[in-house]
Amino acid sequence: MRRFAVRPEPLENESFNGFLLRIGKLNCLFKHSEIVKYLDCEPTPAPGHYGWLETPSKQIFRALERKLEKPLDKHRSRFKERAQLRWLFSKSRMIIDLRLGFPRICTTCVSEHGTLDWRWGLAVTAHCPEHECLLTSNCPKCDKELKWTSSLLIGCPYCEKSWSELDSPQPSEISKTERQLWEDMGTMSNDVDESLLQDICLAIIVAMRPFDLVCESVRNCPKMMEHSRYVARAYSLLVSPSTNAAWLKQCHGKRRELNFLGQEFVEAPYNNFSSLLVRKWRGPNEQALPTKELSFTEHAFSETTQYISQSRRDKALESDGQSNYRFQTNVVSFARILGLSKESAQDYFRWDVLESHKNVKYSTSRRFDLRELKGIIQKRPSPANSIEIFPDNPIFSRFPITFGQLANEVMLNRVAGGFSDTRGVRSVFLHPKVLKEWLIDQLNRTNAKGLSMQLATKALHCSRESIHNLVADNSLKWEGANHFEPRVDNQSFCEYVMHSERIL
Ligand SMILES: [Zn+2]
Ligand SMILES: [Zn+2]
Repeated sequence: MRRFAVRPEPLENESFNGFLLRIGKLNCLFKHSEIVKYLDCEPTPAPGHYGWLETPSKQIFRALERKLEKPLDKHRSRFKERAQLRWLFSKSRMIIDLRLGFPRICTTCVSEHGTLDWRWGLAVTAHCPEHECLLTSNCPKCDKELKWTSSLLIGCPYCEKSWSELDSPQPSEISKTERQLWEDMGTMSNDVDESLLQDICLAIIVAMRPFDLVCESVRNCPKMMEHSRYVARAYSLLVSPSTNAAWLKQCHGKRRELNFLGQEFVEAPYNNFSSLLVRKWRGPNEQALPTKELSFTEHAFSETTQYISQSRRDKALESDGQSNYRFQTNVVSFARILGLSKESAQDYFRWDVLESHKNVKYSTSRRFDLRELKGIIQKRPSPANSIEIFPDNPIFSRFPITFGQLANEVMLNRVAGGFSDTRGVRSVFLHPKVLKEWLIDQLNRTNAKGLSMQLATKALHCSRESIHNLVADNSLKWEGANHFEPRVDNQSFCEYVMHSERIL
């Protein structure tokens, strides 16, 4: 059994992969497979990663101790701790596993220190805080993607440019938030605030798809050369009011096909973001527009299909650039924009009023193209002498119905009604008599024999005695003959509610 000729020790903040590659480099073993083979080990990539993400297993440490001829217990526990930090994984976050499966480096750091920092391999970092430049996953000279080989510690294996020969990288401003995170991850790596990471991960996902309403969480970050650029944009979305102003302006351009639904739908990606953040950030919360006109191209946001889930990918949608994804909504996002309950929003889309994307028929993650609503709304102009009903109308708390249900019936032409030009799907118009018939019909369906005392008292927020009094002065009627347990007549109930809410 041959030991390594050169036997280094791991350095502070050196990644485990980086340490293995450094041993390899010092002993002229360049491929990671060669290094692992030399250790008589099987490579054990971490689950869910395509790249080489060696887990610091007991087996590989025993092999390292033999070949390096020194005890590594102290180092092993540090590597192991770092691989099991509780904040590296969280199911409640938009990016569940923060570890990247592909190499990303600061070329200046590598040429100066000769090591790889473990924090470069985390989804939430964008910059090297020492050199204030973006971390790179491709060769700055020939642009080829970096690979896990120990020549990574010297230079590019393709164009053979060594990192020390490169000009200094382009400066890129690192935000205070990122700098703070770097410090927290270094000294007290167990002490990173979960709510901070939650917001950063949300911002990253939004930076990847800035004009979409549907934001999907990812298990692992897909391999992407521009990862650092997008993460830098994410920090800027959190803290910079002018970046947010530029984003909002671009939403108006890129989502203008939804103008007919109103501003809320056009600006929805922007509004969604601020409502989902846990903390208060200066960027999205300070709405002050910049004084000078922003140049559109200077701040033009790019987007990437890599952050669209497989279940949502569609060749037909992609054939026309990426723009078609922007107009998709799911039930939950739709509910959020209109301030509807999830149940009401589900009712809105019943009976295939819009075709659901990729035939996902029953779940709340059904997706629809909002542009399709245009034709439907325009076909149903608001009828004469009608009243406008909004989702917060009190009838929806008095009757076992939802606003979505009513709107759905209007769209399907089962109830004579329509929509306004300006408020679109936000309200429905219908004649009070039509509404009354529909409400009675709904009550007859669910309570054919009239409303029980229990339901009536609950709907009117009153006592049994009050119901008796309302019947005594003819405001309500009993259904049928006087039973042991009296029931309220549906029609009288309906008329009473509509009168007291001033609808009839
Ligand atoms: Zn650096
Ligand atoms: Zn190169």
